[in-house]
Amino acid sequence: MTARLRVCALYPELMNIYADRGNIAVLRARCQWRGLGFELAASSIGDPLDPDAHDLLYIGGGQDRDQAAVAQDMVATKREALHAAAARGAVVLAVCGGYQLLGHHYRLGEQELPGIGLVDLHTVRGDGSRLIGNCAIEADLGTGPRVIAGFENHGGRTFLGAGERPLGRVLRGHGNNGEDGLEGVMRATVIGTYLHGPLLPKNIWLADRLIELALGTALGPLDDAVEDAAHACARRAAGV
Ligand code: GLN
Repeated sequence: MTARLRVCALYPELMNIYADRGNIAVLRARCQWRGLGFELAASSIGDPLDPDAHDLLYIGGGQDRDQAAVAQDMVATKREALHAAAARGAVVLAVCGGYQLLGHHYRLGEQELPGIGLVDLHTVRGDGSRLIGNCAIEADLGTGPRVIAGFENHGGRTFLGAGERPLGRVLRGHGNNGEDGLEGVMRATVIGTYLHGPLLPKNIWLADRLIELALGTALGPLDDAVEDAAHACARRAAGV
């Protein structure tokens, strides 16, 4: 049987700032160009989530107000399934607002949005200015250090717990909080990052690596001349 990647987009209509849905388009194309199957499901407010039905679960970025509705629903209807999916090795990829909701909470003044506690981190929206700009980090997803380049725009500052690993170290830009030089989180197959762009079109090696992790197979190369040019452009924009 042909291998197929089963993707579930969480809250796609609410968590899709900066065209984050482009990440899904890239996953689809990379599979189809290799003759792999691709299935896309969605789970939004009030929908159940089957922990065994997906190889990769994706949540994009969002405005604070959309995150508030999503946060409550995610804890109420999807927390257990997301923990179970991650425990059996499904990839969870969360960008920006989605990333913030993977942790314990996102505090905005008096309001505290609950997270699903899949990773040990918390986020605080302080009085300081938003952290905005092109950003590049160095990350290793098991194939040696590589650059991930993208664009960040977040008011929240994220702090990892003592035992938690970042996705990468900041080369240029702000990262999790503009202070500790760390960006994102990576615990086994759970990955969170502040980088939009969208993320995967600008970092095609990362898209392929996530498919490999999700399917448990190595992928052959494709002609990536255009994708490599996009990556080089994103790196230049960040000054790396
Ligand atoms: N609303 C969140 C913040 O400002 C996330 C923003 C985003 O997803 N770009 O921190």
